[in-house]
Amino acid sequence: MHCMAPEKEDDGTATSPEPQPSPSGRSICSSCHRPNPVCLCHVLPPHPIEISTQLLILHHPHEAHHKLSTTPLLIRSLLRATAVTGRRLRPGLSPLLDRSPPPSVIYLFPATSSTPAVDISDLNVQDLTRNGERELVLIAFDGTWKHAREMVKASEEFLQSRFAVRVCLGVDETVSGGSIYDSELILRKEPFSGCVSTMEAVARVLRVLEPNGVEVESMLIEILREMVRLQAGFLKPMNPRPKLLKKAKEKEKKMMEKDEI
Ligand SMILES: [Zn+2]
Repeated sequence: MHCMAPEKEDDGTATSPEPQPSPSGRSICSSCHRPNPVCLCHVLPPHPIEISTQLLILHHPHEAHHKLSTTPLLIRSLLRATAVTGRRLRPGLSPLLDRSPPPSVIYLFPATSSTPAVDISDLNVQDLTRNGERELVLIAFDGTWKHAREMVKASEEFLQSRFAVRVCLGVDETVSGGSIYDSELILRKEPFSGCVSTMEAVARVLRVLEPNGVEVESMLIEILREMVRLQAGFLKPMNPRPKLLKKAKEKEKKMMEKDEI
């Protein structure tokens, strides 16, 4: 997910493989397709990582090309990840969902008063996939909060027809998080506030679903952290944020302590 991003300046200090000029004259990394100063090749896996879950991202058309969107990074990093641009899920939108036998479908969205959600840690994947007989498709919605809500609402009928299970991230994770789209990273701080990271939410779900989930999660979070770090370098004005740093350090310390237990 994303928010309005500040204008970035091309300072030309970063290097990346085979820069190519973009239509706007900025040089673009030919490998990660990001402007060179914010190239993420050094943290991206050399080859997309194999996962057993099929990830499908519905990307709102208004935001499909937003520079803070994490969807392209997810597609680049995970072998079974695809994105479709659209406002709602429907038959024919993705061959993934129309397969026979139908896959088991879960979708990532917080519980609402009308629709409950299963905490991902309570999800019985074996039951859902009939002990691995069925493929598992994870759907995530990428857009602003408003757009994500609209997309889920517009997709309700389709989701019901596929017996899709709504899953959310509980509060009792190794990091203390609220709803799935609450970011634990600095995305919640200005000027990133209002941003929600599809990548972060997907990472936390894959940690539970995948045999090598911890590794997958930390790889994705690392990419996200680096994206935020690089993007933050282009913010104007460059005010120091001692409070934020302190908070981040405390959080990191807490996580490390938990890891040690
Ligand atoms: Zn790159």
